[in-house]
Parts: sequence; structure tokens; C-alpha cells
Amino acid sequence: MKNKKVFVAGAGGFIGGHLVRRLLDLGAIVIAADIKPLDLWFQKFNDAENHSIDLKKIDNCLIYTKDVDYIFNLACNMGGMGFIENNKAECMISVLINTHLLMSAKENNVKKFFFSSSACVYNTSLQKKNFIAGLKENDAYPAFPEDGYGWEKLFSERMCRHFYEDFNLEVSIARFHNIYGPLGTYDGGREKAPAALCRKIAKAKIQNNDYIDIWGDGSQTRSFLYINDCIDGILKLFESDYSEPLNIGSDQQVSINQLVDIICAISNKSNLKRNYLLDKPKGVTGRSSNNDLSKKILKWEFEFTLEQGLQKTYEWIEQDLISNNMSPNKFSYVA
Ligand code: NAD
Repeated sequence: MKNKKVFVAGAGGFIGGHLVRRLLDLGAIVIAADIKPLDLWFQKFNDAENHSIDLKKIDNCLIYTKDVDYIFNLACNMGGMGFIENNKAECMISVLINTHLLMSAKENNVKKFFFSSSACVYNTSLQKKNFIAGLKENDAYPAFPEDGYGWEKLFSERMCRHFYEDFNLEVSIARFHNIYGPLGTYDGGREKAPAALCRKIAKAKIQNNDYIDIWGDGSQTRSFLYINDCIDGILKLFESDYSEPLNIGSDQQVSINQLVDIICAISNKSNLKRNYLLDKPKGVTGRSSNNDLSKKILKWEFEFTLEQGLQKTYEWIEQDLISNNMSPNKFSYVA
């Protein structure tokens, strides 16, 4: 990465912010872009070139990717289950970001393109039980992904593939499985389960409440990958010449109830009553990552256990709530 010119789309978001930090550490020249106003970015670095621009617009994509070596596309209008189940059209409109960035990569002779896909591309009929076998890369077909968001990701994966085949644009495509960690969304409606539960438990602790709300009955299962491992996986994949979609996830599968147990133990707030909201979106019943292929191709495995990653995440969220008087304003922006 040293002295390479790298464009990061979605740099004001959770994964994008952590990626920019790592790329700068590696000596890259980073052009960071996000639709959010700069003061709402989770991380912003003075040694990067930072732009608040809408990447749905092709002119912005063409102008800001001129003369860059690599593009990392982490930009997407998305959120946790509550957001993607209720905003399917908004999620699908993110196809414009990926389309216009791919067209700009071709036009500007960019050397390599990274696309952040999702476990939501996997066939939902395979995810109807708790504690399912990890999903393998070829389980995405026959296609029956998560409605809206998952279809957009699957289509965009496919578009990357055809830009590779037809125009020789090198591509890396990661299927992320529930990435979590500090410096991301934990309030406002777009947060995912680990961040939402850390927030609820921290608030219960600080405000001395004795119960928390849980969406669904808590038996649904997922696997969660800590952000540092995710960034390692992204860079390993990008360094490889593998151009097919690859899982970047953990295979440590837990139920939401087990996730709550771990966070309660970290927070020292035990004996919390659990109020199960059965009418709230809960997504598929079970989902986990099969990492056989990523281990083989990348010689990569995640390092942080769920307990270690949640410890860091919980501490950051509790501290952030306290320092912002329980009402952080950085989640107010709608892309
Ligand atoms: P995030 O919401 O924190 O970051 C996405 C960023 O994209 C946001 O800052 C948003 O403002 C920006 N954006 C949205 N529309 C834009 C536009 N038109 N122009 C420019 N910027 C725009 O999400 P994240 O968790 O960092 O996710 C990054 C990528 O990884 C996304 O593509 C997401 O779909 C994918 N992904 C994430 C997870 C996860 O668990 N976090 C799981 C699967 C896939």
C-alpha cells in the first residue's frame, strides 16, 4: 500500500473509518469520501483528503477517483434488521454507488476494486433453523437472498464479476458476516444487534433500570466478527488474486440470548429482566460463516473471541453514552 493512491467510499462510516486508519498506517495516500457531513464521520484523519460527496452521482465518482490506484467501496445506505426490513428501496438504490464507482474505475484505469458484500446474499431457505451449519460461498445460489438489501448485494457482486471478465478490472469481493466494534453506529435505528444490546445494557446500568427489550425471542443465532479481524481479512483478500466472493466472518455462532449473557457479564449488570418483543424484525432464524475457503485461500483466521471483542465494544459505547449525556447526535444523518 505504500505510496499508493487509495479511494475509500463510505469512509465516514464504521468499517470505512477503521480501514482508512489502517491504510494510512501502511503508508497509503488516502482519498476518503462519504455522503455525511464531515462532523458526523465516526473517524476523520487530517492526513487523508476528506470529501463529503454523494457517490450515487457519477460525476463525483469520476472526478474523485481520477488517478487513483485502488478503490475500496464501503459506501451503502444500510443498517441492522430494523432498517433493512423497512427500507428495501433505499437499500437497493445503493446499486447506483457501486455501478458508478465500477464505471469510474474502468474509465480511470483503476488497478483494483474492492466491494463489500454481505452474508445477506445467502439463500434464506438455508437459514430457517437455529445453529445452522456455516454458510459456504456456493450457498448463495440458487438465489433467494434477503429481500431488498441482499438482492442489491448479490446483483452488485455479479456486476463486479462481469467488469472483471469483460473489462479486466481486478476485483475483490468480501461477504461480511456481522462486523462489530467501537466507533460505529449504536443508536438511532441503523445499529446492529451487538451495538444495540451494548447500548441497552449500558443504559440500564447507568440509569439503574432492571430490564431491557430484545427483538424476537432471543433464540435466533448469528456469528459476529470483530472489526480488527475484518480489516485484516479485507487487506489479505485484496492482496490475493482471488476474484470470487469470499466469506469474511466468524464461525463462533451464538444465540441472541447468549450474546446478552456475555454483555451482561462484561458490564457487571446481571439479573436484567428480558422483555421479548416478538413483533419486531429479527431476520433469518440462524446464520453463521463457513470459513474453510477463506482459510485456504487467504491463510487467514479471526483472532478476537466474541468475549474479547465485546469487551472493547461495550467499554466504548458505555463511555460514549456518558460523555455525550446519553444522547449522542452523530446518528442523526439520513443518507
Ligand atoms: P456504515 O453505515 O457505518 O457505513 C456506510 C457509509 O456509507 C455511511 O457512512 C454512509 O453515510 C455512507 N454512504 C451511504 N450512501 C452514500 C452515498 N450515496 N455516497 C457516499 N457515501 C454514502 O456501514 P458499515 O457497517 O461500515 O458497512 C460498510 C459496508 O460493509 C457496507 O457496504 C455494508 O453493506 C457492508 N456490510 C457491513 C456489515 C456489518 O456488519 N457492518 C455486514 C455486511 C456487509
